Amino acid sequence: MTTVIQNAVLSRFQCLGDKCEDTCCQNWSMQVDALTRDRYAQQAPELLAAIEPAAETPWIMRKDAATGFCVKLEGGLCGIHRDYGSAFLGDACHFYPRVTRSLGSSTVMTATLSCPEIARLSLFEDLPSPSQVTMQRLPATLKNYLPQGMAEIDALAIHHSFHAATADDVDAELIFLRIACASRQLENLPAANWAILTGFYLQDADLRLPVALRDINDPFNLLHALCGLIVASHKPASPRLLQTIADMETALAANLDWANVAITTSDASIPALEHLQRSWYEEAKPLYNPILRRWLAMQISLHLHPFGGLGHNLAQRVTLMGMRLALVKLALASAHALHGPLAQDHIVRIVQSLSRFLDHLGDPAFSMSIATETGWDSEARMHGLLRL
Ligand code: SF4
Repeated sequence: MTTVIQNAVLSRFQCLGDKCEDTCCQNWSMQVDALTRDRYAQQAPELLAAIEPAAETPWIMRKDAATGFCVKLEGGLCGIHRDYGSAFLGDACHFYPRVTRSLGSSTVMTATLSCPEIARLSLFEDLPSPSQVTMQRLPATLKNYLPQGMAEIDALAIHHSFHAATADDVDAELIFLRIACASRQLENLPAANWAILTGFYLQDADLRLPVALRDINDPFNLLHALCGLIVASHKPASPRLLQTIADMETALAANLDWANVAITTSDASIPALEHLQRSWYEEAKPLYNPILRRWLAMQISLHLHPFGGLGHNLAQRVTLMGMRLALVKLALASAHALHGPLAQDHIVRIVQSLSRFLDHLGDPAFSMSIATETGWDSEARMHGLLRL
């Protein structure tokens, strides 16, 4: 039994099973760890047929070519879980949507918004505080995110400070800019000093925020960037994500050319953007700011900020987090401008469909090249991007 510090959302989570609108058992390469494959070989060799043939790792569960569903999904439920028990699920299948990491000797478990039920709970439910729970099973391998020279208790306190910063009743964009500013300050210091300075840098950040440097093309470039990232991933966009993107195209009066990774605008595009901006600032913002704040809290948790996340250093990580925040905001603003106040299911679909793609990007290089080209890797340009 291991004690785990668990994000509050997991205390309420129950898989939706056959009621799930975007099941993790479809179109995903669910990895099979070596321990699980060995268990199949020794105790249930018939299950080896459910793994894609490969000489070595990564092994993945086999999918039905016609439907994209895992071949062991039967009637919306996992046939391996039903017939053999959860011990026969690989770590990826057993733990999803949970994300587990080590911080020294502590184990921290959170969840990804790419699961529709986690998205609904995180964005809309009143949740208790994070809790300590005991668990019998943990993933076979856990990466340790504790920086050298930092005490574990300090690392937990630093992560908590960033998470607590998302609770301030101000604009989500301002909270993000404070987090980004403090993170960039910490990067220049030895890890041993982070604990005493994190709180100060977060409180002091408003004094150091640069003036927003806006570019009228930012929303169009952001949509174009999403198209480029999807094409570069060589994975099909889900129908839910395509629906989210279609609303962004319509609201901006822009068209994506997926074959050539291009975006076309017209004389109608700038008036459309101005309508979108008016709609956001005059009516939508108070409706969706709580959603964006909760989204940000989950990003801090998911990435064990400032210790994990996509990017080779803290400046890259906050740049990529800022681009994701800007995309979620643009998607919500677009849908609101077209459809009026959005129902809970609609908001969940937008956030979850973007997360299902963005939270699983494994290489920061292409995203960072976009950030460099557009200038979004600077604080002033990021501030401008987030203004919409
Ligand atoms: S995405 Fe979430 S709710 Fe849906 S099947 Fe997977 S774990 Fe269950």
